[in-house]
Amino acid sequence: MQFKLSEKIMKPDFQGEFTSSILKAGASKDIISFAGGLPNPASFPVKEMEAAVQKVLEKNGAAALQYSTTEGYEPLRAFIAKRYEKMGVDDVKPEDIIITNGSQQALDMFSAVMLDPGDEIVVEDPTYLAALQSFHLYGPRVLPVELRTDGVNCAALAETLAAHQPKFMYVIPSFQNPTGLTYSPEVREKASEIIKKTNMLLIEDNPYSELRFRGDGGYSFGRYLGEQCCMLGTFSKVVSPGMRIGWICCRNLPLREKLLAYKMTMDLHTNIFCQMVLAQYLQDNDLDEHIDVTKRLYGQKAEYMLECMKKYMPEGVEFTSPEGGMFMWATMPQGLKAVDVYYAAIKKGVAVCPGDPFYETQRGVRTMRINYSNSSDEAIEKGIRILGETIKELMA
Ligand code: PMP
Repeated sequence: MQFKLSEKIMKPDFQGEFTSSILKAGASKDIISFAGGLPNPASFPVKEMEAAVQKVLEKNGAAALQYSTTEGYEPLRAFIAKRYEKMGVDDVKPEDIIITNGSQQALDMFSAVMLDPGDEIVVEDPTYLAALQSFHLYGPRVLPVELRTDGVNCAALAETLAAHQPKFMYVIPSFQNPTGLTYSPEVREKASEIIKKTNMLLIEDNPYSELRFRGDGGYSFGRYLGEQCCMLGTFSKVVSPGMRIGWICCRNLPLREKLLAYKMTMDLHTNIFCQMVLAQYLQDNDLDEHIDVTKRLYGQKAEYMLECMKKYMPEGVEFTSPEGGMFMWATMPQGLKAVDVYYAAIKKGVAVCPGDPFYETQRGVRTMRINYSNSSDEAIEKGIRILGETIKELMA
């Protein structure tokens, strides 16, 4: 039987088609995959979570198995609000926090409550592909602004904002996905000055800032922009992605009420059992200590991948030296497309993520994302060697 489906779901966008082919490649046992963005399971606190589950069921089992409130579990919201002090934002209150089903849900919520088809939004170029996919469902006009090594190109941003009236701008200022790049404190301030002159909302997506293993970071945009900035967060990269717990920090009351109304119709609330278990885990364990262990692991992986890149990449291939997060960003020599490298490397058992789906319009780009968090040292050595050989052959 052929049902009539909505246009928007019927045609997966360019990003969607790419995501599924990369996921398939990554799921194969015969492939060394640097294509995804999975945390290393060695960092998951399995034993501690087991203890937290038991405690929650013993102390508070009925509440954990009952329906709950849309905004989320109060002790968890209080924990998150307090943690913003570390990011230079000290006026966040528990009521500003909405617990979401991962930050991925938060992305959808903003589009749902703010966008009508044809509305304009601004994104970094490149940006997180699943954010583009999510925004595309609502039919906006997406305005990409160049991302440089120290953050968004402020002159280009000012020009875009002078010529358009975007409803929101979406940024990932720390260890961005896909580039792993971080905004300098100067660009954070300068971009804030430009944005302050408009009535556009800034959505700061921040899954990675706590995973800094080298150097110093800047403050959250929320420090400069107050309620004009909504800050998204998640426990996916610092505790567990499977629990699906993220949040929105929204200090603008009318917007927050609208987000809550929408979330209520979507799912009533985020899984309360998982929220309570996570809150218990956070009460009984030191999150900073846990993150330190993960950071040491990722720092070592990044270092090792960098060594292998230096050893195996032919002249003309450029790559970043990550200070945190999970990704390295490489640029192929002139004339070589990242997708061609992707298809050739897959045939030899190595998957990377070509840059194309991270750009709203650019295709045939030379950039690619390489994940280091979830591979053994042996796989990194072998995979980067094969990748280097593949690139050499394509250059010949
Ligand atoms: N935003 C960015 C930039 C991401 O990299 C990810 C995960 N890859 C997400 C949001 C979604 O994370 P989650 O839904 O697990 O919180």
